[in-house]
Amino acid sequence: MSLHTSPYIGRFAPSPTGALHFGSLVAAVGSYLDAGARCGRWLLRIEDVDAPRSVPGAADSIIATLARFGFEWDGDIVWQSRRTEAYQHALDRLVADGLAYPCACSRRELADAPLARDGSRRYPGTCRRGLPPGRHARAWRVRAEGVIRFDDVIQGPQRVELASDSGDYVVRRADGLFAYQLAVVVDDAEAGVTHVVRGADLLDSTARQIHLQRLLGAPTPIYAHLPLATNAAGEKLSKQTLARAVDAQAPIPALLAALHFLGQQPPDALSRATLAELWQWARAHWSIDTVPHCRQAVAHGFY
Ligand code: GLU
Repeated sequence: MSLHTSPYIGRFAPSPTGALHFGSLVAAVGSYLDAGARCGRWLLRIEDVDAPRSVPGAADSIIATLARFGFEWDGDIVWQSRRTEAYQHALDRLVADGLAYPCACSRRELADAPLARDGSRRYPGTCRRGLPPGRHARAWRVRAEGVIRFDDVIQGPQRVELASDSGDYVVRRADGLFAYQLAVVVDDAEAGVTHVVRGADLLDSTARQIHLQRLLGAPTPIYAHLPLATNAAGEKLSKQTLARAVDAQAPIPALLAALHFLGQQPPDALSRATLAELWQWARAHWSIDTVPHCRQAVAHGFY
């Protein structure tokens, strides 16, 4: 037995909806350094559970860019598209325990339901006590009750009332695919993830993920949500806002910009350093305490 088994397991979990842009680079850098500074493991998972949103070639391009930037992940890459059995097993358990139920409601039927914080519809509970006569299951939902509290390392204390936040939420969609919330919880639990460092756009999902962890008897990791990178108009960098891919041929300027974005203070001399020197400096000087919590616009060249 090793005397130095590190308890830290972190991960980066990009969705392959396009090439790596500056916003996802920030999440990769933040999670990588937080793990590296604590001598932890850092896992890579491709979140292609939402097959219709996955873009052919995007996963390979993300992996190639990460390698080109000098990221070194531990173990094999996990692909969500190959993990259907594990997700089904978790759903079966929830159903057997009376915690999930079939839902017949169509999107149109829910169109008048109030909006949840993340912009989706808050479920009014129509099928909670059983499917209406003559209707059949389209999706599966989890009963969501109670209040979830957690302390985010960067965003501070959070309190979410599930019923008014999302209501009973979908874990298996009408198209048969498993929902992101379930896949993430099952994958993080199976990999033994202890620390989740990711973009603040996922802060709203965290309460549902903690709720699912509790229902499935999985431990809750420590969460740190990094500030969102926006364009000059204040919009999150994403495929929708046409965020450009980071230049895989010029890792040093992009990594230095990501470090500045994360409130680190790399010395100017690092612009002439090798990738190995840059990572060595960044690991040795990583401070999560200086990461700002507010969203920030990034320099024009990076989006
Ligand atoms: N797949 C998500 C994304 O690319 C990240 C999920 C996570 O880190 O939990 O935005």
